[in-house]
Amino acid sequence: MIEARLTRRLVIGKIDRYRCTGCGVCVQSCLNDVIRMKAGKAIIVYQDDCSQCFACIEDCPRNAISMRWIEKEVRAARGSDRTSSSTGVSNGEISLVMSGKSENSSKEG
Ligand code: SF4
Ligand code: SF4
Repeated sequence: MIEARLTRRLVIGKIDRYRCTGCGVCVQSCLNDVIRMKAGKAIIVYQDDCSQCFACIEDCPRNAISMRWIEKEVRAARGSDRTSSSTGVSNGEISLVMSGKSENSSKEG
């Protein structure tokens, strides 16, 4: 019998492209290579590798990065030590915005 259960994990969720100036600080901060630069903006490329260290959030001078909860369904064979597992990110996301530095600069147009 296959048993399914949900696990919930906090990961990097979004980079606000209007706040992002493309400074690249977050790319340097992330030791897991989750963030890359594309067309002058930071983008999330390997969300699953996020280890919730919050370094990118703390270091972003524009407070452009937010975290979110993701849920994964993990399936395992019950009564067996074989754990055939299939995972998938559900979009039942619960958004959580973590504040990094307080922003003193004025908004860009
Ligand atoms: S640190 Fe902030 S402003 Fe700089 S590239 Fe990353 S998201 Fe953009
Ligand atoms: S929270 Fe840590 S691991 Fe996740 S994207 Fe930011 S710097 Fe990388």
